[in-house]
Amino acid sequence: MVMTLELLAQRASLHFARRYERPPRWLAVAPGRVNLIGEHTDYNNGYVLPMAIERYTIVAAAPAENSRIRIASGQSPEEAEFSASQTIDRGVPEWANYVKGVVAGFQRRGVPVPGLEAWVESTVPLGGGLASSAALEVASATLLEAVTGVVLEPVEKAMLCQQAEHTFAGLPCGIMDQFAVTLAREGHLLLIDCKTRGFDLVPMNDPGMGVLIINSNVKHKLVESAYAARRAQCEEVARVLGVDSLRELNAPALEAGRGGLDPVGYRRARHVLEENARTLQAAEAIRSGDWPVAGRLMYESHESLRDLYEVSCVELDFLVEQARQIGEGGGVLGSRMTGGGFGGCTVSLVRSSAVEGIGSRIRDQYHREFGLLPTVFLSRPARGAAMV
Ligand code: ADP
Ligand code: MG
Repeated sequence: MVMTLELLAQRASLHFARRYERPPRWLAVAPGRVNLIGEHTDYNNGYVLPMAIERYTIVAAAPAENSRIRIASGQSPEEAEFSASQTIDRGVPEWANYVKGVVAGFQRRGVPVPGLEAWVESTVPLGGGLASSAALEVASATLLEAVTGVVLEPVEKAMLCQQAEHTFAGLPCGIMDQFAVTLAREGHLLLIDCKTRGFDLVPMNDPGMGVLIINSNVKHKLVESAYAARRAQCEEVARVLGVDSLRELNAPALEAGRGGLDPVGYRRARHVLEENARTLQAAEAIRSGDWPVAGRLMYESHESLRDLYEVSCVELDFLVEQARQIGEGGGVLGSRMTGGGFGGCTVSLVRSSAVEGIGSRIRDQYHREFGLLPTVFLSRPARGAAMV
């Protein structure tokens, strides 16, 4: 059983008190997220359909006696300390860069940040494609809003956090993670238009249906370099075809320009175009409770990520294949890899009544195949970041 938010908050307070010998004054929380469909579309100005999950990162904090920020985490042995009153640079430990980037973002907006002592505690798996990095950034930003009294517009807050990830963690991520973690609502998916940064709430509260997340517990080395490479390939196709982003391209225009593209670029762009269309269709299907259609689109998304975008791996393919074999008769409507790829998680649409059996069957099969246990859990769509 995973800790509830209440228990996690208690744990964060306890660790804070042990470390700093007094209780925290503030507790800021942000959830992880899972993306149902719309993968590798966000940085192409496309559509995504994530929801927040019932896994959280909490930052507990209190004022310091000087202008320094000290921060420790239950998920890392290394503590960080830096000045809140001077220009902040990225450094070691790596993990604290996500927090530093957020502090720097407030400074850049002319908001002075005072000295703080802080402790981080999380139930979001780190590096599993469930946006623990965005949860850490957005929880930090939420904390700084409370500390400084300067409350940002949610979209600006998400973008400040994205910027932190770009410049302090060195990952040129899209806007999905920080957006989802900031703006999520309980019982809803978020259909985000990453071009306009507008979003629609898509209700997802049919008690008969569940979202099953299976963490392969592998992370292949490629992740970061492949991410940047995919991003560059998409930008190159847009450049060659004379559009600002792949969002401005339609299928006939891509086909017409195919001769001028290298085959890899063409495949990448085709994935993005078709994935955008699938995401809109899936949102419609979920709105009208048409689960079989939503599920089919998830399988198609996986195949496209595997064959056209080439970001899957044997472990993720295996998990999706096992889900497919259980099939609708066994309560699985759809399944796909989620997140950047090369490891991390799959997300499956399942009938609530069949969840236990599905989870244990896939766990056993995966263990037999790879000698490694996956982590399986169900989540309802959770709320976005807030003070506890
Ligand atoms: P994901 O966002 O998919 O979980 P990332 O590689 O983007 O994976 O971010 C994971 C990194 O974020 C970790 O390696 C660590 O540096 C940092 N991080 C996230 N949450 C925490 C935490 N609770 N404590 C310390 N570091 C964290
Ligand atoms: Mg991340």
